[in-house]
Amino acid sequence: MAQQGISDVAVVGAGLAGVIAARDLAAGGRGVHIVEKSRGAGGRMATRRTQEGLAFDHGAQYVRAHGADFAAEIAAWAARGLAAPWGADGRFVGAPSMNAPVRALAAGIPLTVGTTVAAIEGEPGRWTLSAAEGGRLGPFAAVLVTAPAPQAAALLAPVAPALARAAGAARYAPCLALMLAYAPEVLEHPPGPAQRPDHPAIAWIGEEASKPGRAAGAPWRIVVHATPGWSRAHLEETPDAIARALLAQAAPLLGARSEPLYAVAHRWRFALVEEPVRRPCLWDPETGLGAAGDWCLGGRVEAAFDSARALARAVLEETRR
Ligand SMILES: Cc1cc2nc3c(=O)[nH]c(=O)nc-3n(C[C@H](O)[C@H](O)[C@H](O)COP(=O)(O)OP(=O)(O)OC[C@H]3O[C@@H](n4cnc5c(N)ncnc54)[C@H](O)[C@@H]3O)c2cc1C
Repeated sequence: MAQQGISDVAVVGAGLAGVIAARDLAAGGRGVHIVEKSRGAGGRMATRRTQEGLAFDHGAQYVRAHGADFAAEIAAWAARGLAAPWGADGRFVGAPSMNAPVRALAAGIPLTVGTTVAAIEGEPGRWTLSAAEGGRLGPFAAVLVTAPAPQAAALLAPVAPALARAAGAARYAPCLALMLAYAPEVLEHPPGPAQRPDHPAIAWIGEEASKPGRAAGAPWRIVVHATPGWSRAHLEETPDAIARALLAQAAPLLGARSEPLYAVAHRWRFALVEEPVRRPCLWDPETGLGAAGDWCLGGRVEAAFDSARALARAVLEETRR
């Protein structure tokens, strides 16, 4: 697969899956280039920093290892100060923010941000990526797509229809998130570090300052995640309308006596994998096209990690033949 004279492997997406695949491929001697549509690495391991100086982990809340491989990875992050335990039941969070491990792993890997891959074009051995913002990257010998499954399927459909069909089988629940800040005296029932209330609209309430490495003290910074059902029902509303509606649900649980200092909603359209593809990764050695992500194996950060490692192994195995 490795070819002289052209760039080697393009990775679409700088979430954990993309960055881990790129890291493993680079360690195996491949030249890698990541292309990411947002402003930086992290994907759904996300942290929002506001103009007011507040920070919210509004996507994934914590990671927990079920397998030895991811446990070793988290231990390596913790040894570098990029993750720390949160509570006593094996939960870890990125430190000082949820996106910190992905950002640190991406450092040193060529990464183009603010570039949405709109199409994969060309032919095996000479793939190019055309950007929605204009311009073209490549050629590449291989292209690995680590976007959420519906977006991966759309990119792969014209060039790898069988992979696109496989990715298209994954199903997601959306999640509407609300980032809240309150003056300390306003809350009658301040949240614990994490609550899963038995509530039709609210699945999760997390308190930022309870996590290691975050700013201590006022104001309260709180992340609220809506349930899948409530998120589906309100998915197409404007962010302002979502914020108002979700605040109306959350405020009584918090015992809020007055309005928050900050209330901004975020729409995660492809948040939590409900039905994975049940294959470690997708890879076609004939075309040099592949895909990985949590949607291959399950709805957790560890699934994204395992899938990315499986894809990198498959690509490196091909090179050795
Ligand atoms: C609200 C919420 C709560 C969660 N809570 C937890 C939790 O507590 N614990 C847990 O383990 N997991 C949790 N998860 C799931 C976890 O975040 C994901 O499983 C994991 O982060 C997925 O990583 P990934 O790399 O597969 O995908 P992503 O992180 O989604 O990365 C994909 C990347 O591809 C980029 N991209 C997409 N299309 C393009 C394109 N065309 N061109 C360029 N770039 C593109 C995206 O911008 C993104 O950066 C949660 C997710 C959400 C949304």
